[in-house]
Amino acid sequence: MVASQVCRQCGTASPRPDATICRRCGLPYGAAPRADAALAACPVCYRDTDDDGLLESRAMPGRRHDLQEHIAEHERFPVGDDELLETLRRGDRLQVGRWLAPFDVVRRYLVTGALDGGRRRSLQHDAIVTAMAQLSRWGTSVPVVGDQPEWVEARAALADLMERYHRRRV
Ligand SMILES: [Zn+2]
Ligand SMILES: [Zn+2]
Repeated sequence: MVASQVCRQCGTASPRPDATICRRCGLPYGAAPRADAALAACPVCYRDTDDDGLLESRAMPGRRHDLQEHIAEHERFPVGDDELLETLRRGDRLQVGRWLAPFDVVRRYLVTGALDGGRRRSLQHDAIVTAMAQLSRWGTSVPVVGDQPEWVEARAALADLMERYHRRRV
């Protein structure tokens, strides 16, 4: 892919080879993002691009490339076992043990939680466990606090999935 045909601001590739300006941003391909623009993020690893709209290559350290090239690199550098997640997908939900939780929320937790650690990780974890238990039993508005056995089991199911998701990365 030609780097200059990917918008550095929104990360979108040009729909036509002869286009020179991103239709979403009105920015010429290859130009640095505007200073006040929100940076594009990778849908695979959730990393933001840097201020110049590029990311450092993992295959070739020192080289900087656009978001589409970065996404393509995940073929060689997967963040986890996404084939496993696809086998557990139920529409926009993900099967975690005997529960269902929002697919996107859980995947983001599995990817970023492994890096974040600490308090932010445990907050994400609690939110997902709460969602899992609530969705399966009461709908979305009743708090689950007090239902200890189910809470403990849901936590274990999520921790188990985290472990399986990252198992293949050696
Ligand atoms: Zn754009
Ligand atoms: Zn990425």
